[in-house]
Amino acid sequence: MNGWRDKQEFKTRVLEWAAKLDVKVRGLYVRPMRNKWASCSTAGTLSFNGELLEMERDLCDYVIVHELLHFSVPNHGKLWKSLMRAHLGDYEHLEARMKQATHNPAGSGPMPLT
Ligand SMILES: [Zn+2]
Repeated sequence: MNGWRDKQEFKTRVLEWAAKLDVKVRGLYVRPMRNKWASCSTAGTLSFNGELLEMERDLCDYVIVHELLHFSVPNHGKLWKSLMRAHLGDYEHLEARMKQATHNPAGSGPMPLT
C-alpha cells in the first residue's frame, strides 16, 4: 500500500511505535525537509520529512523505527542493528529499498538518515 491518508495518520503510526519501543516523544513534527528523511534531538523531538507521506508504509516504518531507536542507541552499531532486526525483521532489505527509492534533490546520492 502506498502513501498515508494524512499527516495525522502518519503521526499516529509514529506514536504507536514509540509506545511499543518505550520511547518518550516530546515533540513530533512532519514538515518539509530539504535533505534528510528524519532527525531526532536529544531533547526528545522527532522531525520527519513531509515527503514520507507519499511513500510506502513499510519504508516509513523503517524510517520511524530507525529514528526512535536512536533515542536509546545513538549510533548504528551492533545493538542498534539487533534491535532493528527484532522489530522489523529483514530491515537491511528495507534499507536497500529506501536507498533505491530516494535520492536527494541535489542529486548527490540517497538522502541520509540520521
Ligand atoms: Zn540513524
